[in-house]
Amino acid sequence: MHFQQMRTHYDEAARGTPWLSVPSDNPYQCLYCSYKCSTESKLTRHMNKHTGEKLYGCPYCPYRAAQAKTLTFHVRGHTGEKPYSCDLCPYRAVRMDSLKLHIFNRHEKIQKL
Ligand SMILES: [Zn+2]
Ligand SMILES: [Zn+2]
Ligand SMILES: [Zn+2]
Repeated sequence: MHFQQMRTHYDEAARGTPWLSVPSDNPYQCLYCSYKCSTESKLTRHMNKHTGEKLYGCPYCPYRAAQAKTLTFHVRGHTGEKPYSCDLCPYRAVRMDSLKLHIFNRHEKIQKL
């Protein structure tokens, strides 16, 4: 029974290999799926797939940006004296309802005529 002897020999060799018992070197686990990786930046890039590639949320409105730079630029609009700007003209307002009123009075009325 030479075959049996060889099987036993291979099993013992496998048991002796240290890398089989080494814990995972991918400690970063995706919150949305079973993906794992070794660095936080890789995980962030992966998680973009789940979050629609817009990770950076504006604290003042529902706006989301794919890059921190883009968001910073956007947030500047809020942190100014008049955070709400009209998309159709250079008008800026302190309050959202003032802007809505402006858009209604200055733009929507005209468009409907
Ligand atoms: Zn994932
Ligand atoms: Zn915003
Ligand atoms: Zn306007």
